[in-house]
Amino acid sequence: MDVLEIIGRKRDGHEHTAAEIELLIGGYVAGRIPDYQMAAWLMAVTIRGMSDPETAALTRAMVASGDVVDLSRVPGVKVDKHSTGGVGDKLTLIAGPLAAACGVRVPKLSGRGLAHTGGTLDKLESVPGLRVELEPEEFVAQVNQIGIAVAAQSPRLVPADKLLYALRDVTATVPSVPLIASSVMSKKLAAGADAIVLDVKVGRGAFMHDLESAIELARQMVAIGEAEGRATRALLTTMDAPLGNMVGNALEIKEVISVLSGRGPRKLEEAALTIAREMCELAKVSIDPEPVLRSGAGLRRLEEMLAAQGGRLEEGLPEARFRVPVVTPAAGYVTGIDALEVGLVSMELGAGRRRKEDVIDPAAGVEITAPLGARVEAGRPLAFLHAASRELAEAQGERLRAAWTLAPEPARLGAELLARVTKDGVTRY
Ligand code: URA
Repeated sequence: MDVLEIIGRKRDGHEHTAAEIELLIGGYVAGRIPDYQMAAWLMAVTIRGMSDPETAALTRAMVASGDVVDLSRVPGVKVDKHSTGGVGDKLTLIAGPLAAACGVRVPKLSGRGLAHTGGTLDKLESVPGLRVELEPEEFVAQVNQIGIAVAAQSPRLVPADKLLYALRDVTATVPSVPLIASSVMSKKLAAGADAIVLDVKVGRGAFMHDLESAIELARQMVAIGEAEGRATRALLTTMDAPLGNMVGNALEIKEVISVLSGRGPRKLEEAALTIAREMCELAKVSIDPEPVLRSGAGLRRLEEMLAAQGGRLEEGLPEARFRVPVVTPAAGYVTGIDALEVGLVSMELGAGRRRKEDVIDPAAGVEITAPLGARVEAGRPLAFLHAASRELAEAQGERLRAAWTLAPEPARLGAELLARVTKDGVTRY
């Protein structure tokens, strides 16, 4: 069968065989299939959708396009954790060390910030001296010694995703559940862990805006993982307001340290404990992460990890030259903080990239002082802008102020954990 026929089959709503999908992905990565044909197929998939067996075959073909991390020299159950991306989402750096301190092996390959959402690698690199480019031997040795390593994904892993993602980005074919599921899961499978905890964010600051499509994405990702023999679970959590009170890179590392010292915002601590518990359960470790957090063992594990990767926390984290308050003209209770707007403001301050080649300001970001549920008086700050210049900060003041919704009465705050998806089905909370 030739490429035109395969594209036509998806256009007409037929189900592909695994061989057809392999021919497409293999041909595209090898340069035999041009972008315009692949783009036509991606659009047909976006409109027609894919069955679970098709999505599984696509994921397998993507994994086969590159290297797979060999973790056979790490004994025990290795557990990976992945977030679909949010604002202020620093959970990997809290739940990972906590799970490691409980005895879980956590080999984690992370990414950089995408659009308004932050990336774990950028946050880590705000620690002076810290390296995220680890050689495979170094990565394995660190997981064996400390229980956790958080490093950059090698470009040799899933090259098909890099090519397809770039094409999807410019052909309006990013928002397709099977294409997102195969993109995320191909990278998770190639990263080599035995079990995977997925944190699927839902809301204005997330990729998925409504619960039903997020549940469908989670269901497909769990099905792919389980079909490949990896125990996989997904938690669906809100991303309407930023997670925690710090958004930025060094600012988020500071908040990670506060939470692991037992001084962090309660909701962020709870979210991290929920993820750490799932990781422990999948690794069959029957230790509760909460007393581990209280004992300071999670913080010590984070410090060991940072030091092993060359980080010199003792030199202090970068601090912005300017810390400019954004005050509210009227008093009230905080009933909403628009995560997307806070993420965009933080990016404009220099904490994220607008273009791939932009350089990050590790000290820039937003410090929230009036979180959801708080009462704030007129003339008092809602947040502080951290920036390299006063002009940069002041240019964002009005936009940040507008991200807050205040009301005369406190609102009932919704649950953070919306649903949990396992191979046995969906539980809604
Ligand atoms: N994240 C990914 O890795 N891939 C997608 O397609 C969307 C989000």
